[in-house]
Amino acid sequence: MPNAAKELSKLTLKIANSYTSEDRQASTNREDVITPEMVAYALAGMGKHRGAYYLARLKYSLDESVRQALRTEIVNYCIKNQLLVNWINSKPEKALKIIDIAIYDITASTECQSCQGRGHEVINNEIIECPTCKGSGRKQFGRNEKARMAGIFPNAWDESWKSKYPDIIDTLYKWESIFISHVGKRLR
Ligand SMILES: [Zn+2]
Repeated sequence: MPNAAKELSKLTLKIANSYTSEDRQASTNREDVITPEMVAYALAGMGKHRGAYYLARLKYSLDESVRQALRTEIVNYCIKNQLLVNWINSKPEKALKIIDIAIYDITASTECQSCQGRGHEVINNEIIECPTCKGSGRKQFGRNEKARMAGIFPNAWDESWKSKYPDIIDTLYKWESIFISHVGKRLR
């Protein structure tokens, strides 16, 4: 999977080239900074993928105003796809909690330190999947951190939360990849 930050930095250069000279001068000192304008440019035309749109706004523009809309998109997606069914019907506060943890996980995740976000390592001229991040290129929250965010003991996480978590975080990864592929198309 392409790295979102790299796609966005390519986008940054493309946008910098289209700026007026005055703007370009102002932007040369912050080439690697992703501005809300760049994200807005990248997101133009992706209205039908609302989940991906809100996620990108929250993650790359740090636009807090869309957090609630993103939660609602995830809840609707879960209902439509029969995910978290029992929790949504009888323990909605738990459903919202696990959704919030997944949002925090994907928006705060940083590059894997072992592979610098590449997802693989080269050992003896052989490319192997990075064992630390299992190829994702990201540093994810561990089980203890997620349990702490849920306000429960780690064994309680293992018992009833752990099995539900991949459905939610994988949905967000899928939405992020929709956004990245959209950015990729905008760059061509
Ligand atoms: Zn890694």
